Amino acid sequence: MAITETSSNATRTDTLKSFNPRTGVVRGEVSVTPIGEVKQAVDRARKMAPEWAAIDPQGRARMMKQVRHRIYDRLDDIVETVSAECGKPRPEALAHDVVPVLMMLIYFEKIAAKALRPQAVGRLMGPLAGVKSRIEWRPFGVVGAITPWNYPMTNSFLAFAPALFAGNTVVIKPSEVTPASGELLRELLEPLPPGVAAVIQGGGEVGAALVDAPCDKISFIGSPATGRKICEAAAKHLTPVVMELGGKDAALVLSDADLDRAAAGIAWGAFFNAGQTCCSIERTYVVDEVADRFQEKLLAKVSQVRQGEDVGSVTFRRQFEIVERHVQDAVAKGARILAGGAGAGIENENGSLWFAPTVLDHVTPEMDVLKEETFGPVLSITRVRDDEEAVRRANEDGVNLTASVWTKDGKKAQRIGERLRAGTVTMNLHGETAAAPWGPWGGVGESGFGRLNGELGIREFTVPTHVASTPMLSLGRMWWYPYDDATQTSLRAIADIIGGPEARTKIKGLRNVLANGLTAMKGKF
Ligand code: NAD
Repeated sequence: MAITETSSNATRTDTLKSFNPRTGVVRGEVSVTPIGEVKQAVDRARKMAPEWAAIDPQGRARMMKQVRHRIYDRLDDIVETVSAECGKPRPEALAHDVVPVLMMLIYFEKIAAKALRPQAVGRLMGPLAGVKSRIEWRPFGVVGAITPWNYPMTNSFLAFAPALFAGNTVVIKPSEVTPASGELLRELLEPLPPGVAAVIQGGGEVGAALVDAPCDKISFIGSPATGRKICEAAAKHLTPVVMELGGKDAALVLSDADLDRAAAGIAWGAFFNAGQTCCSIERTYVVDEVADRFQEKLLAKVSQVRQGEDVGSVTFRRQFEIVERHVQDAVAKGARILAGGAGAGIENENGSLWFAPTVLDHVTPEMDVLKEETFGPVLSITRVRDDEEAVRRANEDGVNLTASVWTKDGKKAQRIGERLRAGTVTMNLHGETAAAPWGPWGGVGESGFGRLNGELGIREFTVPTHVASTPMLSLGRMWWYPYDDATQTSLRAIADIIGGPEARTKIKGLRNVLANGLTAMKGKF
């Protein structure tokens, strides 16, 4: 791996530190891609794009299979690197950064050809108008993928793999927070022909240079604040974008929920990856009737969660400070800490970043912990009168990338789920759907737009091109020149046939077409 070991915390501006937040130890350094080389990477990808696009989907899938095999071969390195750089327990690196990527690739290998198969459209109207139409799903060219640090493998593959299957070449800018994982990504992609998938390293400036190169499409996973900047920069080139942004996900615990399941599922949904997940539960709305019992079960579950083995550390200092600020602000404004809190759990030394799973109640909408995404191990519990209030608060207090309903009544879950404004709605589970490659993945409103994963994910990276032809080469078209009287009468008659509300108008139209059509068609070419 092209990461150089270092014994000091000093960082030159042309390098990125690979840091272990569990210990505070700097693992090594990785070189930043000089800004001047970003456009060169895009140019190389653009040169290679027609060749990659010309390979049929099955051929591309065969090459992507080599990448999948490489991932399996390097599984231990991935677990070691991702777990060290993110501070996550090894089982989480396996469950969230290896298995979902393998599943995603195998799924795309199987469905890419079907998702990209040209689709005949207008089968009735087209032939009547003398046209055969189909949609071809053509690649854009070069896709720039800009990704975050929380799942350095899965979120990177999520952003660029469907683009590759769709026939685009990609230039990937992984997060500067996890640069060793970015180097590993480069090695995993080596089985692909040179120029098909390049990795560039660096922070926001390198990402901005990638957007400005420009690319033919940008695939972004990250915060709404950066998403906005990228949308503005992409607008300069009219580059289309797909935006996978943050969430403030809500879980609704209804009066007939299986409370043991809800407590276990919500504890996991809030604290897996130390809560640093776009779709982790940050808000729980519990119907009053069961709130005491739910809270007791949830706190019992949280008290069994082992920091270190089950919940890792926060990944980097900026994130740690946001978590600390949100909890402090909430407490200062009257929230109550039911578990965890600043200073609880493993003590920090040498710059390590442990923050214990924290549960708050008495939270109000003016607290940062409800207003902003925390993206850390903090869960709030809010008691609500009934299902109605739960739905209203879930939709109004924050944005749901995903939202979940916890009830034993399937019909009720469906009814409530339909009213939740979210990119994904789940029943009696939460937080795992980004890893379901068959389901479209994306947000609403502030949590983003466009879709990754599933057939829609592949088509997201295509230009749906309408290809139309006519089998009747010996005939001109009614609306070509010249616009003589017969043409006008025939066009009027066609309007009568199509739009006339009564049968007699249609019959009159038909008569007029028969009487004038041939004359109108004369001299069209
Ligand atoms: P971030 O927005 O700070 O950074 C994301 C990426 O954008 C990084 O690679 C960064 O270097 C790059 N970047 C920063 N400024 C840029 C600029 N001006 N131009 C181009 N690129 C730029 O986000 P983060 O802290 O890495 O990730 C956390 C956020 O990501 C959270 O909001 C989380 O909810 C969100 N997220 C969303 C999803 C999803 O699927 N919707 C998945 C994971 C994370």
